[in-house]
Amino acid sequence: MPEQETVHPGRDALFIGGEWRPARTGATLPVVDPATEREIARVPAGGPDDVDDAVRAARAAQPGWAATPPAERAAALGALRDLPAERADTVAATVTAELGAPPKIARSVHADLPVRVLGSYAELLPGHAFEEKLGTSTVLYEPVGTVGAVTPWNYPLHQIVAKAAPALAAGCAVVLKPAEYTPLVAQLFAQAVADAGLPGGVFNLVTGFGREAGEPLAGHEGVDMVSFTGSTAVGRRVGALAGGGVKRVALELGGKSANVILPSADLARAVNVGVANVMSNSGQTCSAWTRMLVHADQYDEAVAMAAAAAAKYGERIGPLVSERQLGRVRGYIAQGVAEGARLVAGGAEAPRARGYYVHPTVFADVTPGMTIAREEIFGPVLTVLRYTDEDDALRIANATVYGLAGAVWGAEPDAVAFARRMDTGQVDINGGRFNPLAPFGGHRQSGVGRELGPHGLAEYLQTKSLQF
Ligand code: NAD
Repeated sequence: MPEQETVHPGRDALFIGGEWRPARTGATLPVVDPATEREIARVPAGGPDDVDDAVRAARAAQPGWAATPPAERAAALGALRDLPAERADTVAATVTAELGAPPKIARSVHADLPVRVLGSYAELLPGHAFEEKLGTSTVLYEPVGTVGAVTPWNYPLHQIVAKAAPALAAGCAVVLKPAEYTPLVAQLFAQAVADAGLPGGVFNLVTGFGREAGEPLAGHEGVDMVSFTGSTAVGRRVGALAGGGVKRVALELGGKSANVILPSADLARAVNVGVANVMSNSGQTCSAWTRMLVHADQYDEAVAMAAAAAAKYGERIGPLVSERQLGRVRGYIAQGVAEGARLVAGGAEAPRARGYYVHPTVFADVTPGMTIAREEIFGPVLTVLRYTDEDDALRIANATVYGLAGAVWGAEPDAVAFARRMDTGQVDINGGRFNPLAPFGGHRQSGVGRELGPHGLAEYLQTKSLQF
């Protein structure tokens, strides 16, 4: 096999100021393949001094990068997008090894989607207006400064690119602290930044744990903005740290999204796509439609279809990322049973002797008050709830502390009218496809701010007005 297609072996170094250098802590953390439970690499576990070095490097590089014309910044992002295609093979193999994603989705989603997002910024940047006239004023849109980015493991490269691409496009410099479970793909991204010729210091990587590296970054006085994606619990902490320093903050947090199937929908399609949406990435998707809402008259038919669809996933589904995640998900399945939901597919027992696998699981007779209908499980677990009429469906759909995504299926005017009433950041109508230009982010406890497209770029810009 050519070298490019192998898993990235890991590097015992951080990427700071355009150079790979050892961590000051001298500590490392293990990377484990969740399919085999074996350690496959070790990377540095950086600490506060490393974060400090990285923030200094970013601050030194930022003014020069901000002064680089947008067309040149766009060309740099284009160079990053256009790196040789073999890199995508390495990314895919590495995501399979450290996250457990099956090879097909590792390639089509984990490797290829970030390339599309990078491309979207390379394309929109040259035409973006960085100033506008407003009466007697000229309003300038300037980079917010140095950005501390903290990312999760579930779509490891996408989450990095969804922050780094718009931040770099805006003229900001970035310090990234990626998830401790998936640092290898972050190292590949840092190397790609170097190989694409971006100036040293505009992008820096400090691998490590949340407490030792994430917190010092979120609270660092040299960081002007913190952009975090992860759990709501950690998001609260990061938001408090950033708020304490009066920094701008963007939080992309959890979800418990509703998939509302109206009586006029193509029931089989809505159920099958809905199940696929939840099982994809082994259920580790913040925007997954984990609550399927079906009219009482169609409920039994939909449950039978969902159970059959989930059963077909059997061996095709990858493991969860970690032993901890496995324990959490199995705990939720047991709790669903204990609270009286009816298991129609899957269950809590281990499907394989080795690896952090769980069965694709479907619960029927779920009511809105049950824990499995309220809390984010982050595993391949679908809940199916019954509604009596559209108002009832809307009440159930919106009865959550989250508001990240959702779906509606039905005759178009009804479906669109329903989508307008949903209290959530994104709604896919009749299977509407992912659009990398559409703003992505949540209402309420799903977060603050938006990623992707021009709205994602705006997050990294601040205004200055000149009066004439
Ligand atoms: P997590 O919150 O545990 O970790 C996310 C990141 O924060 C990791 O890099 C981690 O090291 C870091 N971190 C942990 N503790 C920290 C602290 N005290 N200070 C600073 N940083 C800290 O989440 P996770 O387990 O990695 O990811 C799963 C969660 O993320 C789910 O709840 C999911 O919904 C959410 N998520 C949301 C989105 C979104 O776009 N809204 C996307 C992916 C994941």
